[in-house]
Amino acid sequence: MALAHRHRRLAEGMLLGACAPVGWAVLCSVHNLWPLAEDVYAVWLFSYMALGTVSAFGVFSYLIGCNEERFAQQSIRDPLTKLYNRRLFQERFEQEFALAVRQETPLTLVLADLDHFKQVNDIYGHPAGDEVLREVAARMQRLVRQGEVAARIGGEEFAILLPGSTSEQGRVLAERLRLAIRNQPMALPGGVLLPCKATLGVAGLDVVSATSPEALLSAADAALYLGKCQGRDRVVVQTSDWRSTGTACDLNATWE
Ligand code: GH3
Ligand code: MG
Ligand code: MG
Repeated sequence: MALAHRHRRLAEGMLLGACAPVGWAVLCSVHNLWPLAEDVYAVWLFSYMALGTVSAFGVFSYLIGCNEERFAQQSIRDPLTKLYNRRLFQERFEQEFALAVRQETPLTLVLADLDHFKQVNDIYGHPAGDEVLREVAARMQRLVRQGEVAARIGGEEFAILLPGSTSEQGRVLAERLRLAIRNQPMALPGGVLLPCKATLGVAGLDVVSATSPEALLSAADAALYLGKCQGRDRVVVQTSDWRSTGTACDLNATWE
């Protein structure tokens, strides 16, 4: 198991702290000062200095390591939902896309957008909307496995990157997420139970021919848009001929 960053920093600090007593011991040897060490006072002083510098540097470095870990997490996480942020998602998407193309392995992208979310804010207020986003994220996080990337890429828009999964596997996950959001209302402070729904678009490299991450994202986005047009609260899997089939619709005209 890889050593946590703070533990590496602790080891580095202790090593650094050991330099002062070791240096002193070397000086004593070079100048033949060891007889002094027979003095109890000198022995205590040396021990105190050795222990003191090793532990002080160790503790100091450990705390620096903890802070560095926190900053590293903050730079890749969305502060509201604690899911990965758009930046990390973009980075991982490019890496996974290149890997999938090189190794000819499947890669599927699921996009999810909450339905009529603006109404939640308008009716219940922004803090309630935030609570819904947090709860949706928690349900999403419970569904993804290690190696898969769940991110908040926009206001009420989420993405799940599934390396090694086909469109069909992506559809199954998307459907699970849709039901996880829909089947249990969101519990808001004050005892309010708020029903919530989402529309999801799925695009996988096994079906859609995409030469770049942006192209796969567009395919998933078009599937999501089609789902909105068809009445929301559904999963739409992108087809191979998606570019030739128009999906233009008036979203405001599709209130169910
Ligand atoms: P549709 O079903 O077509 O997706 O409708 P919608 O209302 O969900 O979509 P629209 O794009 O019109 O509105 C998205 C809303 O999401 C508007 C904005 O107030 C809200 N939103 C975006 N980010 C946040 C956030 O961080 N917190 C809260 N509470 N609301 C947010
Ligand atoms: Mg949206
Ligand atoms: Mg929405």
